[in-house]
Amino acid sequence: MLQAGFQAERVLEAEIARLLGGRIGSVIDGQVVDGQGAGFTLQDPATGRAIARYADAGPALATAAAAGAARAQRAWMALSAAERGRRIWALGALLRRDAESLARLESANAGKPLRDCRAQVARVAEMAEYWAGWCDKIEGRTVPVPSGHTVIVRREPMGVVLAITPWNAPLFTCGWNVLPAIAAGNAVVLKPSEYTPLTSLAFGLLAVEAGLPPGLVQVVAGLGATSGQALLGAAEVAMVTFVGGAASASHIAAACAARMIPCVLELGGKSANIVFDDADLPAAVQGAQQAIFASSGQSCVAGSRLLVHRAIHDHFVALLASASARIRAGDPLDAATEIGPVATARQFAHVTGLVAAGVAEGATLLAPPRPACLPEDGFWVMPSILAGLDNQALVARTEIFGPVVAAIPFEEEAEAIALANATPFGLAGAVWTRDLGRAHRVAAGVRAGSFWVNGYGTIHVSVPFGGFGASGHGRSSGQEALAAYTQSKAVWVETAASPALGFGHRP
Ligand code: NAD
Repeated sequence: MLQAGFQAERVLEAEIARLLGGRIGSVIDGQVVDGQGAGFTLQDPATGRAIARYADAGPALATAAAAGAARAQRAWMALSAAERGRRIWALGALLRRDAESLARLESANAGKPLRDCRAQVARVAEMAEYWAGWCDKIEGRTVPVPSGHTVIVRREPMGVVLAITPWNAPLFTCGWNVLPAIAAGNAVVLKPSEYTPLTSLAFGLLAVEAGLPPGLVQVVAGLGATSGQALLGAAEVAMVTFVGGAASASHIAAACAARMIPCVLELGGKSANIVFDDADLPAAVQGAQQAIFASSGQSCVAGSRLLVHRAIHDHFVALLASASARIRAGDPLDAATEIGPVATARQFAHVTGLVAAGVAEGATLLAPPRPACLPEDGFWVMPSILAGLDNQALVARTEIFGPVVAAIPFEEEAEAIALANATPFGLAGAVWTRDLGRAHRVAAGVRAGSFWVNGYGTIHVSVPFGGFGASGHGRSSGQEALAAYTQSKAVWVETAASPALGFGHRP
């Protein structure tokens, strides 16, 4: 029996009608096209019920999408840079116009709290505005070579970029990867997660409405092993940007290596949130909650290892446990809900399996009881702390990607840094301390692409973001993204009065 108040099915139907014209298909050359492959069922993460079904695009449609993108990319580059910027700005305005519908669609599909979805839609509109401004500022340079030449270095787009995104932040990762690529003059074929394609499809339709050439943002709704695999082999794809897990990443990187095309990989983490005994404890408790329980821990930067100075460890863990018990769980579409379910049945099995493994390894599990109002068949995991572990424990080494934190004590600053770095990952981390010198030392010592001092998790489109080590390589935000999404071309213009033409060495 479904508890009252859980609204995903009704909301999904209304928003699919409003934003997608009533059907779930790929957005190819500006049209919604039905998939040609097997059916795929979307489940409401809050209740476990089947709420929508669509057909995998399939290899033929995916391949056609790449060919259409190549045509659109030429039309895009035929516009002036300023005009490209105006159209991306217009896309930002449409994202703002439809913000509430997009947030509701995302929440119903992914089980993400509506308040988080609203915030993320606003961030995506900001991304469009930020990248719109860059279009006419991508400049080349000249190089003072010793020969009689003027050398002009042009920044040219790659061509067609394949963007592959995960289910944890679907519209956010869509905007994060698509917008810099098109601002740099590329077309994008986006393959969102099969579990959460809906807001990306809406984004594709808004791109057409904003005046981007049809085909510039193709959105292929389908499975990784079929549609995604076909796209990796499409001749027009000149670069891949991937956000997701390690297993898919190494497969995708190998496919790129075989074709000798570059890839940017934004992968997972096992980030350390380090709390010293001189920290502002109420702020650090709030920060630790935010670090691991926001988005039910389904955040690549989640602070999933909580390293706490031994002098305050037990007290801090008790404070965190009592604060976490007050986090409101409920219908993701209720604006008061602070924590929703995890997004898929598979993820639920993964997270609960690891919690059980932690307990079997001797950890003490601190988690509030599951409220009776939550549907039994939903993918609910309560905010969980696993205490009494060391950094060797399976749950301290494995990315859980759920609302589960491993609390680990340390004694010395050097030990805290060593523990933070005792992982192949290197995505993020944080330190809580009132000692400024220590804050800088720890920030410099931890191997990670993003690091916060007395805070956690803030990222912005204007700032480079990405991983060290097993958390990936390349950066798809900030000015670094423009380097990733363009390639330099050197144009040598002969300017000598008597050019020394001919074979062989030129002095
Ligand atoms: P996943 O690797 O299972 O899937 C990601 C995407 O890859 C999906 O669209 C999937 O369909 C596609 N895919 C899978 N196999 C493919 C293939 N053979 N060819 C082409 N495409 C294929 O990841 P997930 O489970 O959806 O997401 C969770 C992971 O993403 C976590 O590890 C998380 O840390 C990571 N993540 C990283 C960041 C970041 O920026 N660093 C952000 C969000 C999520």
